Amino acid sequence: MSSTRDENQAARVTRTGVAARACRVKGLILDRDGTLIAHVPYLADPAQVALLPGVHDGLRVALDAGLALFLHSNQSGVGRGYYPLAAVEACNRRMIELLNLGEQPFARICIAPEAPDQPSRYRKPSPAFLREILAEHGWRADELCCIGDRALDLQVAAHTGARAIGVATGLENLQAEMTAAGLQGVFPVFDRFDAAIQHVLSLT
Ligand SMILES: [Mg+2]
Repeated sequence: MSSTRDENQAARVTRTGVAARACRVKGLILDRDGTLIAHVPYLADPAQVALLPGVHDGLRVALDAGLALFLHSNQSGVGRGYYPLAAVEACNRRMIELLNLGEQPFARICIAPEAPDQPSRYRKPSPAFLREILAEHGWRADELCCIGDRALDLQVAAHTGARAIGVATGLENLQAEMTAAGLQGVFPVFDRFDAAIQHVLSLT
């Protein structure tokens, strides 16, 4: 029976290895609220940070496959004066603590603190952060994949030729938003974050 276990082990190693080698995507731009953590509107209290199902395992698999992780979050609560940027950063620290994937699993973190009516370089759907990553790493657009729970997370990719995946784990109806934004059928949508990561690893 030990030979069966060995064969199973070999098959798992091979599958993982093939997925990692064949994956064209080199980096993920990840939304925070509704994607990595439960969406609490205008979250400012680290005690309310809660990881969504499959997020820890999905990010572990992505890191093991050699993908770089980038965090990109609109935080209009800062621009509206509801809470300071320091509260956003405290919630990020709590999320990273709960992830337990090392001191800093994200290669870069981009917070857009402006309200929608304020001028902003980075507020999604602005592709400015994505373009900076491409320039910094010398990657093609399709080597980056945006993952988020809102249409505007996916619009970042639609404007640039990058890939994108929706996760229906937020507060809004993502499919309805995608239809309104003309993105229905353009990008896949999954019900769990780890399923989205498995899809990323299957992309060639
Ligand atoms: Mg979100």
